[in-house]
Amino acid sequence: MKILKFGGSSVGNAEKIKNVTEIIKQSIKENKKIAVIFSAFHKVTDELIKMSQSASEANQDYLEMFKKLEDRHINIARQVLAVKNQSSVLAQLKLNLNELEDVLHGVYLVKELSPRTQDFILSFGERLSAFIISNSLKDNNLDCEFLDSRLLIKTDETFGNAKVDLALTYKNIKKYFESHSKTQIITGFIGSTFNNETSTLGRGGSDYSASIFGAALNVKEIEIWTDVDGVLTADPKKVKKAFPLKSMTYEEAMELSHFGAKVIHPPTMQPALEKKIPIRIKNTFNPSFEGTIINGKSNSHNFSIKGISSIDEIALLRIQGGGMIGVAGIAQRIFTALASKQINIILITQASSEHSLCIAIMPKFAALARKAIQEELYYEIKEKLIYEPLIENNLSIIAVVGENMRKTPGISGKVFQALGKNGVNIVAIAQGSSELNISTVIPKDDEAKALNALHDAFFLSIAKTVNLYVVGTGLIGSTLLNQITNQAEFLAREYLLNVKVIGLANSRKMLIDSNYIDSSNWEKPLFDKGTKTNLDAFIDEMKKLNMPNSIFVDCTASDKVVARYKEILDSSISIVTPNKKANSSSFKYYQELKTAAIKHNVRFLYETNVGAGLPIISTLKDLVSSGDKVLKIEGVLSGTLSFIFNSFTKGKVFSQIVKEAKAKGYTEPDPREDLKGQDVARKLLILARETGLSLELEDIKVENLVPKNARQSKSVEDFFKKLELSDNYFESKRKSAEKKGNAIRYIALLENDKAKITLQEVNKDHPFYSLSGSDNILALTTKHYQNRPIVIKGPGAGADVTAAGVFSDIIRTSNYLS
Ligand code: ADP
Ligand code: ASP
Ligand code: MG
Repeated sequence: MKILKFGGSSVGNAEKIKNVTEIIKQSIKENKKIAVIFSAFHKVTDELIKMSQSASEANQDYLEMFKKLEDRHINIARQVLAVKNQSSVLAQLKLNLNELEDVLHGVYLVKELSPRTQDFILSFGERLSAFIISNSLKDNNLDCEFLDSRLLIKTDETFGNAKVDLALTYKNIKKYFESHSKTQIITGFIGSTFNNETSTLGRGGSDYSASIFGAALNVKEIEIWTDVDGVLTADPKKVKKAFPLKSMTYEEAMELSHFGAKVIHPPTMQPALEKKIPIRIKNTFNPSFEGTIINGKSNSHNFSIKGISSIDEIALLRIQGGGMIGVAGIAQRIFTALASKQINIILITQASSEHSLCIAIMPKFAALARKAIQEELYYEIKEKLIYEPLIENNLSIIAVVGENMRKTPGISGKVFQALGKNGVNIVAIAQGSSELNISTVIPKDDEAKALNALHDAFFLSIAKTVNLYVVGTGLIGSTLLNQITNQAEFLAREYLLNVKVIGLANSRKMLIDSNYIDSSNWEKPLFDKGTKTNLDAFIDEMKKLNMPNSIFVDCTASDKVVARYKEILDSSISIVTPNKKANSSSFKYYQELKTAAIKHNVRFLYETNVGAGLPIISTLKDLVSSGDKVLKIEGVLSGTLSFIFNSFTKGKVFSQIVKEAKAKGYTEPDPREDLKGQDVARKLLILARETGLSLELEDIKVENLVPKNARQSKSVEDFFKKLELSDNYFESKRKSAEKKGNAIRYIALLENDKAKITLQEVNKDHPFYSLSGSDNILALTTKHYQNRPIVIKGPGAGADVTAAGVFSDIIRTSNYLS
């Protein structure tokens, strides 16, 4: 014999009930004898709670809610029952519903809802569903009958969470089944007290009912049919990458469900375990899939843990004070005080100093629990041996569970590392003495991020995903997206790294999609699904999504975006950017960003701020961090100015070269932006700061190459006209250099803590003499490289090399992330 149990998620509407009917028919074919337990229709228990509470607050809305519930049941009945049998069943249904309405009306009149009455009201959910379905099954030629489990399951009077007298209940069930040979269609969730009052077995308790019937009848297997493919490595509603487990032990299932895995109700395992009956979790909507088997065997699963579960909302009670140290029995008294109020403790941690005790409970019990403790420890609190108990709210618990943990060292290290790297603060930690689980209490806002980070760390440790938010889809941004597309397969194969774009914005539209945006075809979704760009909303959504391994990639040149960097780093999101504005703004902000990145364990990388993809900043950082001292930095740091002076040879006219540079797209739309040297100044400032100097932009002396008379010109044409007037000046400079065998270069120099940018002559032996095209060059003289400076030379501008530099910063960041 087998027990089948269908949850509310399997019986939400007529269509689903028809599907369940097919599964039952098939099961009878295969197993001959079965009994079937049903939950209330989807969400009905929640609705009954809402309407009864409304009634108890003398709020007439309860009636409307009741009418909706009534209509829903009658409609489903009409759809699943054969027309010829409908009237008698509907009449019976109506009687039941009238009774429910009467009780609700009573609650409304007396404005009181005792747990006893509440349980009676809730019992209608299962009674109605099992009744309707049993009749529908009869109409489908199944030889079955309805069984109200209150007849057999006997409980104490803890209404809302009644304790079952298993011995008596088993006896009742066995006896009943001896005289009833038809297939029993049974109400889940409900029982009755010794005075025959209706009680319930706790939310989600139909699973438990199934296990009780299974154990009483010593069945071959208990099947729990739900809306997912079994027990998964995590709740698929919170962790998209969760996958189904083939098997697990009763203890593992118990731990996972105790810490929030709703797929199975925690007490369910007890009766099955005692009788060694396997429980199988199956998907009503994917019946051919084998699902998960829960039995006595720990199975061959390659991972060090089985699953991760969480409780969304808990409250933490903190009891502390010197009076707890070395005093036997305080903890015991606290637990007894809570137990006497039926308050279930989810988790306990005690510091080894015994100075403080933390207890996690459901938030609805927090005030009551505090009162119970205050009463129990009245004397100790009065004498100030123990402080008033504190309640902390807005917390979640995350538990990592598995039998393999006992044998595997380093699990807790991995948990802390994954949480730490994602900026999740751990409020309390507990490890069960069975070593079957490690539970951490964390801020509720970080729940989803923590779950996903842990899931990646334990189940996909081989493959890693980084989530990118790219703002700016201009030349650099779009080239970067192209490069990501082209490299995706290689990175996944060689580095086991998945780079996903989950946020994208330009000046017009923005889109965030946690499922990821296809980087090879981003324009269409951004245009079709995107909303009008709003930086505040983009950042808010990014923070709310709170995805692990997130990187914000700023490919704009905007001050407004830069102003948000601190907030982004504070949200534990790394930043990669070619935008120079942040690091060349005030020294104070520059330092705040560095500190925020360290504090939150994230990266802030900007290699492309100087010399595009050339490894200038990283080299400088490596030298400084390994204890070398930078004595001098000398460089040609502007591709535009490099081109202009490299081309300025005999026979050429200066203003013509600037025009040519503009025509080739090497200059800003207004070439004065390049010639005035501010861009180079920002780069030199960034380099100076990397060496440890606290300079500001004003401290950099810059030779402005825009002739004085051309600075105020209104238009670019006018500027060029004025520039022509200075051609002689530049030509005389060139000639004078040429005479000495020198060339002129626009050189940034940092020496003796002073920074300046000037037009200079360099001789034939100087490394800058032979510079060509628009290359950048940098010579680093340090204590270790005193006589022969390190020279870095190469293309220092262009979308391809800049985007490639940004991409390698992304990869560098991902190496660091969990
Ligand atoms: P039913 O109505 O069938 O009793 P429940 O809603 O009570 O269904 O339980 C099924 C739900 O449990 C799933 O839809 C899923 O969101 C949730 N769940 C939480 N943790 C897990 C897990 N580890 N594996 C599978 N499902 C889980
Ligand atoms: N209907 C009850 C509830 O929603 C019992 C169950 O579904 O298992 O809690
Ligand atoms: Mg359930």
